[in-house]
Amino acid sequence: KLGNETLKEELGRAAWKVLHTTMARFPDKPTPDESEALNQYMFLFARLYPCGECAQHFQKLLKKYPPQTSSRSSAAAWACFVHNQVNERKGKPIFDCANIGDFYDCGCADDEKEAIA
Ligand code: FAD
Repeated sequence: KLGNETLKEELGRAAWKVLHTTMARFPDKPTPDESEALNQYMFLFARLYPCGECAQHFQKLLKKYPPQTSSRSSAAAWACFVHNQVNERKGKPIFDCANIGDFYDCGCADDEKEAIA
């Protein structure tokens, strides 16, 4: 049981890292197609998330709080908010979403430049 909890927590940390980093790299001014891609990605992510209890709960959260995909800042704020909903449910500290700006840096900020070079 203890081992399973540890694995579930590791999976959660890795998944949140991917999610928040995705938001931090989402376009400031996305095309309608990019916004729709993020919207579908979130619903599929919730559906396929490999922890049944978490997936069920997260799907309910998405219904209540639909993904905000009109800009990078709204997507990042939305992901921070839903993560805080999970934090609250688990009795974990609430993250200050005002500090989300520089927190998720994947080190890939200049991949556009590399693509040109
Ligand atoms: P995590 O919550 O994993 O957070 C990792 C780091 O992200 C933190 O250390 C902090 O630096 C930062 N962070 C914290 N809050 C925020 C925020 N609001 N915005 C941005 N960054 C933040 N576990 C369950 O037991 N039951 C569930 O129903 C459940 N549902 C989940 C649903 C999803 C979609 C995901 C991705 C995970 C879920 N988990 C669930 C796992 C759980 O959320 C944690 O990942 C796990 O318990 C490990 O917690 P942690 O304290 O290491 O920090």
